[in-house]
Amino acid sequence: MIRRLKHWAYRHQHPERHRCLETLLANQTLSAAQLRQQQLAEFAELLRHASVQVPYYRERYRNTSLTNLSPDAIRALPILRKDDVVQHRDALLDDHADRATLRIGHTGGSTGKPLAYYYDPHKHELMRAGMMRSYRGSGWRPGEKILNFWGARQDVKPRGLRKRVEDFIAAETTIGAYEYTEADLARWVDEIQRYRPVLLQGYASILAELARYILDQGLRIPDTLKGVYSTAEMLHDWQRQRMEAAFACKVYNQYGSREIPNIACECRHGNQHIFTDMVYLESVHEEGEDKLLVTSLTNRVMPFIRYDIGDAGTLKDGDCPCGSPFPMMEMGVCRSNDLIRTPHGKIVYPSYFIHLLDGLEGVTQYQFVQTAFDKMTLNLLASRRLTAEEQAHLGTRIAREVDADMTLEIRHVEAIPRTRSGKHRFVLRDFV
Ligand SMILES: [Zn+2]
Repeated sequence: MIRRLKHWAYRHQHPERHRCLETLLANQTLSAAQLRQQQLAEFAELLRHASVQVPYYRERYRNTSLTNLSPDAIRALPILRKDDVVQHRDALLDDHADRATLRIGHTGGSTGKPLAYYYDPHKHELMRAGMMRSYRGSGWRPGEKILNFWGARQDVKPRGLRKRVEDFIAAETTIGAYEYTEADLARWVDEIQRYRPVLLQGYASILAELARYILDQGLRIPDTLKGVYSTAEMLHDWQRQRMEAAFACKVYNQYGSREIPNIACECRHGNQHIFTDMVYLESVHEEGEDKLLVTSLTNRVMPFIRYDIGDAGTLKDGDCPCGSPFPMMEMGVCRSNDLIRTPHGKIVYPSYFIHLLDGLEGVTQYQFVQTAFDKMTLNLLASRRLTAEEQAHLGTRIAREVDADMTLEIRHVEAIPRTRSGKHRFVLRDFV
């Protein structure tokens, strides 16, 4: 009853969000062929708009024929790189955009290239509607409670009275998790027990930490939980296993970015479905990588067309037993700027380093930083100091398995800094 009342009030507060949600839900009932047709029509419409009203594309498409749009014709269009967005931010803006209502957003530097972009209130409403559609995959229904653990300071509003009332109606609350201690983890578990959410949502690294604490302490989690939505960061298998054990429900991996939200989300069968009513996704093989290019079909204010988002992945054929008409994709391990290159030219995937600490007791958080071709530093947040023998063993393994000239320095630290967007990176290269 209360859930229904809240939902009614929430609809009343956010009419546009609910209109968007209804359209998105209706799209799920279309066939795969109908969706493909609709997607191409929307892409064509976006191109017409951009080539007329957006100075950057007017210039770039000057000699390109934009009629009879097909996937092949799309593949021939220029790629939009992050550097282009940084350099041409104002030229990427729709001539007719209402500057009075425009907002500016920032993406983090997790790929080393922070950028700013414009958006309008409609984009925010559509983003929230897209997320609500994803949540429904777990059995969540509007009005049921969601607890967010958010790592980006810029997104978490102070909880004044107005915010508390809004949170109550939205059945949603957010905990700012940009920095935390074991005491905070204990407090958050209390909050989960008290609030009894139906969904948890947050950065993969934060939810995995919370799961570790719950398992270590043998704590109980309310059986109201239907799903955990992991977002913003790459979700590793060991994090997923830990979360599913601690929260006793399925983990759903969401894929999207600030500039283009709602790209894909996992279904209950563990397949990542692409929201082709919101994006056009391509995977192109370039410089030895499968780069994902994303076109936002809904953003007219600052169109992102064939945008090199900085992630790797491939498109997948076939149908999913869940019956979704949306096609599937698979995320790649990483892009080249996350790879470690050794003095002898060997390339090592971040996952190697992630498994190096398997089985070491007392490790809470860690980060490997390559500071030079032949130097790695391991920043370690742990409840104890590693013994000299353990430290020597890690150094020996790196010399043997990664590169004979690679040295490892181990630092026991009080905190591991996150990137500007609040994301945690386990392995990073900190030199050019
Ligand atoms: Zn599926």
